[in-house]
Amino acid sequence: MTAGSDRRAELAAGLADTERRIAGACAAAGRSRDDITLVVVTKTYPASDVEILGDLGVVDVGENRHPEAGDKAHEVEAPMRWHFLGGLQTNKAGAVARYADLVHSVDRVKLVNALSRGAEAAGRTLTCLVQVDFDATDPGRAGVVPDGISVVADAIAEAPGLVLGGLMTVAPLGDDPRPHFDHLVRLSGGLRRDHPDATIVSAGMSGDLEAAVAAGATHLRVGRSVLGERPPTR
Ligand SMILES: *Cc1c(COP(=O)(O)O)cnc(C)c1O
Repeated sequence: MTAGSDRRAELAAGLADTERRIAGACAAAGRSRDDITLVVVTKTYPASDVEILGDLGVVDVGENRHPEAGDKAHEVEAPMRWHFLGGLQTNKAGAVARYADLVHSVDRVKLVNALSRGAEAAGRTLTCLVQVDFDATDPGRAGVVPDGISVVADAIAEAPGLVLGGLMTVAPLGDDPRPHFDHLVRLSGGLRRDHPDATIVSAGMSGDLEAAVAAGATHLRVGRSVLGERPPTR
């Protein structure tokens, strides 16, 4: 076998294994697999992996850094939907707006305005999620506290070129993720009273996707379970 077909077999196996986990979690929760979007997080992996994933039927891929994300989106020919998941500096928002389809990590009005200008300039529509942070002990983390959601959400809803998609969170490291995911789903219910179309609940990664499906997540962001362990980056 060539290196390419080896990698294809690896990714197919990782994907099948991840799909089995999602199917099991859906069965346990009485949910339909069709109500869940799997976003395969390809950060640190090459564009060739994204091409293989596209060939295996994956549509949604996630990246967390610019310009790595933009370089890959440019290189990959398969028509993927690009999800931007990472902390985003305001001065990079315009560039990200040119290739991202969804931005999961919107946590301040300044960033909303920069993404809006970028989307308008590119003639594109960008779906934005408000990132919520439940870890009050670490003020450096990305995301808004629950009380801050509505200000950012309203700004997205009013911004030209942007669509308010819903909410996202990353469970605090080392905590039981379940109460946080349940909390996010409750907050989503509140958000939908004002914004009925903001139905996305983005929660759950390789380590906690079952808990996210149980809580009611609509979007899972899964890297390692599909692609393998990443080499350490930072
Ligand atoms: C890397 C990353 C993921 C995927 O994490 P895995 O543990 O590889 O599944 C999900 N969400 C965000 C925001 C990430 O940065």
